[in-house]
Amino acid sequence: MFLSKGLTINDRGHLTIGGCDTVELAAAYGTPLYVMDEDSIREALREYVRSMNEHYPQGGRIAYASKACSFLEMYRIVNEEGCGADVASAGELYTALQAGFPADKLYFHGNNKPAGELCMALEAGVGRIVVDNLPELHRLSAVAKELGRTAEILLRVTPGIDAHTHSFIRTGQIDSKFGLTMENGDALEAVKEALVLEGIVIKGVHCHIGSQIFDADPFIHAAEVLLQFLAEIRRETGAALTEMNLGGGFGIAYTGGDKPRPYSEYMAMVSGALKKKAEELDFPLPFIVLEPGRSIAAPAGITLYTVGGVKEIPGVRTYVSVDGGMADNPRYALYQAEYTVVAAGRMNEPAVRNAAIAGRCCESGDMIQENVPLPAVDSGDLLAVLATGAYNYSMSSNYNRLPRPAVVMAKDGKSRVVVRGETYDDLIRNDI
Ligand SMILES: *Cc1c(COP(=O)(O)O)cnc(C)c1O
Repeated sequence: MFLSKGLTINDRGHLTIGGCDTVELAAAYGTPLYVMDEDSIREALREYVRSMNEHYPQGGRIAYASKACSFLEMYRIVNEEGCGADVASAGELYTALQAGFPADKLYFHGNNKPAGELCMALEAGVGRIVVDNLPELHRLSAVAKELGRTAEILLRVTPGIDAHTHSFIRTGQIDSKFGLTMENGDALEAVKEALVLEGIVIKGVHCHIGSQIFDADPFIHAAEVLLQFLAEIRRETGAALTEMNLGGGFGIAYTGGDKPRPYSEYMAMVSGALKKKAEELDFPLPFIVLEPGRSIAAPAGITLYTVGGVKEIPGVRTYVSVDGGMADNPRYALYQAEYTVVAAGRMNEPAVRNAAIAGRCCESGDMIQENVPLPAVDSGDLLAVLATGAYNYSMSSNYNRLPRPAVVMAKDGKSRVVVRGETYDDLIRNDI
């Protein structure tokens, strides 16, 4: 059976996370419930930092892409591990700042940052604003002038690498709403403009080529293309930019079929390719930034649900209905994302049938997963969906006026609430 790190089966045949029995967690906190294993989060961050130090002593930073899972305690943990963070909205920025996150280690992303958010970022002293397009560059320059501040920026470029889950294609111009196209010269023009615009200091370039990528090649190519671009910038303008942010996208195991590489392998290959390219181009090795999101948060999290009923339609299929669904995990409804689902209180029992795990929302498409082998579960049984730590809580909604579940952090057999579950009063808080 596939289990993510930090999960075990105890002698009662129950799934455990961070040393806590999930059946006891469900009894104590109710379901649906998000649970995260604190050690898994910290170990993933440490593994990135360690492999960066080992393979790229020239200098770099791990910046957790906080859209994967954003709440105060996540930013505190990331900060304690000495990492930076990427924020993609004023709301994420606000949460990071409220958690005491050092603003100078924040990277502010997004393809449409309104002037008000740019203003907030500059006033907070955000380390790097990653500018996506020309109108935004001009908007930022105007805001910086007005505030009497300087914005230190990276320019987001589209290197023409389209990385899919298991393969990638290198095309002239990829179809993306993000970033400045390199192929047609837009990116270079933007750099030239950034070099002379008032209130702007350009430090380097950024790209993010996709998500849930298993192959190392797209990352290697992206790093080479970006370094080549830095060399081209120096040739064309005389400016030697020193920073390169390679984004995130490292794949994780949602099922036993997914085989992610250890991060240290990516780091070894990317740094090897960069050193070779830097020598070829006679260009100094840049400071590099990696922005893993999913690979930090996803494997650390599970979601616990209680089965409400089992509906067998002979010759068609069996539905197992749970007390959550697309409101707390929209990823299957959005793009048939794969998950491992287990009967958390019957881990040692053999599977007796395949079932569709149905959510409770008023949508036929509200499923958590289909074709899940399960033991003989019935009303009251506990299910756990694995690897839900990323893009679940952060993508949750109040559809059907379902209050968002609590998030509980588990560590060394102890658990604590890090995000309170919403109440009905929370649901009407802004209603007039
Ligand atoms: C989403 C995103 C990331 C993180 O991607 P993961 O696949 O979660 O690692 C990093 N950088 C940027 C700019 C992003 O938009």
